[in-house]
Amino acid sequence: MRIAVASGKGGTGKTMLAVSLAHLLSRARNVTLLDLDVEEPNSHLFFDLPLLCQETAWSMIPEIDEEYCTHCGTCQRVCAYHALLCLEDQVLVFPELCKGCRGCVILCPEGAMRDGKKMIGSVELREGAGVSLRSGRLKVGETAAPALIRDVKKHAASVNEITILDAPPGTACAAVEAVREADYTVLVAEATPFGLHDLELMVKTMRTLRQQFGVVINKAVTHDRTLQQYCAAEQIDILGELPYSESIARACARGAIVTDVLPETVPLFEQIITAVMRCEEVAA
Ligand code: SF4
Ligand code: SF4
Repeated sequence: MRIAVASGKGGTGKTMLAVSLAHLLSRARNVTLLDLDVEEPNSHLFFDLPLLCQETAWSMIPEIDEEYCTHCGTCQRVCAYHALLCLEDQVLVFPELCKGCRGCVILCPEGAMRDGKKMIGSVELREGAGVSLRSGRLKVGETAAPALIRDVKKHAASVNEITILDAPPGTACAAVEAVREADYTVLVAEATPFGLHDLELMVKTMRTLRQQFGVVINKAVTHDRTLQQYCAAEQIDILGELPYSESIARACARGAIVTDVLPETVPLFEQIITAVMRCEEVAA
């Protein structure tokens, strides 16, 4: 089972929840945690695990065979990322903008483009205590986050085991790539007006992708029920609520796993796991 943990913006407690779920689940079974927040991977900071290996990650980039190129401009027109500039006598490729989609290669009428490759970052492996942690690390200045995320996702566990996917925040293509093959997505939202706005965007994205999802409300407060009312109106499952708590914030700030150092929080996280399993069974 693949459970993605996502949020409409950074700072909602997404990684805190992802590592806590992985930590709890690893008590009974092997868990794979994939850190897909490749621009700023930080799941490894919560686990004291040795770095076992670091592999270079590559993405496709087009190479032009000038012998066959007629400078028709088709490739420039099809590239949605403006990574190509067709001049009278040459086609320029801007590697930092290329996402490796291969659209230009497929649509070049002369067959004048072929697959090259560029280094986009690395994939790191750490293991121990029932957790296998893979983190994607995007090269500074590189934009091909979806390609690196696809690379990291290849290391998901077999269907009989559990993979937690820590998705990048937001609703851009990197976040979509991270969650689109998940069996279930947990949306983390905080009880603020910004939290509601970003949750609404995530819900639209989930519905467009036809993804099964539920919501965890983090930093929940008793005097503001806006998120609960929104979820009720939209018929969205609330999987659990984590209270606003200084002790949780302090634990996260020093890189500790909440369920490890604050045993009193374990029932709250176990409730979330139970709710995810139940929702996924109903959906299946
Ligand atoms: S589409 Fe092919 S032939 Fe046309 S400019 Fe691009 S590389 Fe050259
Ligand atoms: S592979 Fe995709 S992103 Fe890269 S230059 Fe070609 S069309 Fe643009």
